[in-house]
Amino acid sequence: MKVGVLYGKEDLRIEERPVPVPGPNQLVVKIDYAGICGTDLEFFKSGMTPAPLPMVLGHENVGTVSAVGEGAMDFKVGDTLLCGPPTACAQLCPSCRRGETNICINGFRATAGIGGPDGGYAEYYLVRDVAHTMLIKVPAGADLKEAALFDVVCVALHGVRKSRFKFGDNVVVSGTGPIGLSAIGILKAAGAGKIIALGTSPDKFPTLKAYGADCCVNPNEVADLGAEIRSLLDAEVGADVVYECAGRAASFKNCVRACVRPGGQVMVIGTIQENLDIVPGGFSIFEPNLDFSFVYTPDEVRIYLDMLKTGKLRFPDMVTDIISLTDCVEKGLNRKDRKGQLKILIDPKL
Ligand SMILES: [Zn+2]
Ligand SMILES: [Zn+2]
Repeated sequence: MKVGVLYGKEDLRIEERPVPVPGPNQLVVKIDYAGICGTDLEFFKSGMTPAPLPMVLGHENVGTVSAVGEGAMDFKVGDTLLCGPPTACAQLCPSCRRGETNICINGFRATAGIGGPDGGYAEYYLVRDVAHTMLIKVPAGADLKEAALFDVVCVALHGVRKSRFKFGDNVVVSGTGPIGLSAIGILKAAGAGKIIALGTSPDKFPTLKAYGADCCVNPNEVADLGAEIRSLLDAEVGADVVYECAGRAASFKNCVRACVRPGGQVMVIGTIQENLDIVPGGFSIFEPNLDFSFVYTPDEVRIYLDMLKTGKLRFPDMVTDIISLTDCVEKGLNRKDRKGQLKILIDPKL
């Protein structure tokens, strides 16, 4: 079978490997789709991962069980599964004991495609430990491409659920990638007052509006972002809750300095990998609440699948490209033209 192996900075090779055979408490899943995540992009560009390379990338996997190891009683050949990050770790750390499996202290190194175990940029994927992997059956009738969006949608869902958002609140979502777009769709469904999207790619504005943004602002094109936000909200102050979904230092600054109302909340969903150059005294006098959100729990993935199945939440046009494994560098990780691009899925059957 073909696999996509990251060896180092901008060095991903397509290799042939034997199809894995499941051992006790393991499964083999034939991959239907593997999402290309912003995290994969960071790994590819930097060659830096939480585990030593080489490693098969891919942590956003949906596939069909093709072989079941001894003891993996809850699964059968033909089940369609989302294969996510670890659930409660084998060591049952304090976070996992509290049910906060998203902030498990052992989670990273056990996450396939991130922490060492090989991921889903492959025709077949080995689930190494069914008891401690987030394996969620996809209900019949759900669209597999939309199901494959679970990672981005649930990152946004966790951030919104963890925030202080209440029905009718005005919100700002900074970042127009798949996570920002998901947050807008969720906030619209949850009854947000006004939704303002901030982004530097105007080609994405029509999709953001279709998902529920009342207005879209390019922060680089307004002289006074705070005044612009207040004017769009028709209010003396900024938004009740502001979601940082771009994972950029500049976006974070906009959120805390220009967008949030006094006493409001900034929920940082994006993983910012840059130094921050800010003077807290400039905004701390208004007591904004600053909170962080990281990934999601199995229950949130189940909520997402239920919403998909019942049609209460849809994410049309989020998948902009479906590419083959062979093309995952040129048309995926190292893609030059990203105009209008949202989620890219790899289909290893192509
Ligand atoms: Zn991801
Ligand atoms: Zn744990």
